[in-house]
Formats: sequence, C-alpha cells, structure tokens
Amino acid sequence: MSTCPFCGGAVQEYELTNMGGTIRASGCCDVSMDLIENYDVFEALPPPLQQAALEGDKAQQAAVFAKAREHAVAFQASRDRWMRTHAHLFKGEQTQWL
Ligand SMILES: [Zn+2]
Repeated sequence: MSTCPFCGGAVQEYELTNMGGTIRASGCCDVSMDLIENYDVFEALPPPLQQAALEGDKAQQAAVFAKAREHAVAFQASRDRWMRTHAHLFKGEQTQWL
C-alpha cells in the first residue's frame, strides 16, 4: 500500500477493462495508477503539460467508468426483466444488486 502523491490518500489499485478501454484505477482519487507510478516524470513536466496529462488521464478514466455504469444499468434492467418473466429461477435469492 502506498500513498498517492496527488491526493495523499492510500492507493488501492484495481483494474477495469471494457469497451471504453482499460485503466488501472488508483481507488483513492480520479488519477490513474499510470500517472501515480510515473509521478517523477509528471512532476518534471512544465505546468501546462501537467494539466494536459491530468486532463487526458481523467478523460480516459471517465470513459471507462461511464461504460462500466452503462453495463451495470443494462445488467440490472435485463435481470429485472428475467425476474418478472422467469420468477421461479430467482426463488429464494437474497442478493441485493443495487
Ligand atoms: Zn489519489
């Protein structure tokens, strides 16, 4: 576990892949692991390029997170449909999805 140079929080890396791309999210803030691991490179950039790097990083993550949300909503909708039409398959299920 390391400390994030951007937010000061504890980094909890996880990977997320979907049609929006692949990101290694930091779990502490909206900066990716790639940027955190290359912080020395980032720090050496002139401020306008730092800004551009941060914005590019956040835009890429936002695209992947948006796809993940889209899939979660679609999954829930198709599951609701199945529960209505094939209720017997879900009998006794206690899981809460949302
Ligand atoms: Zn952070």
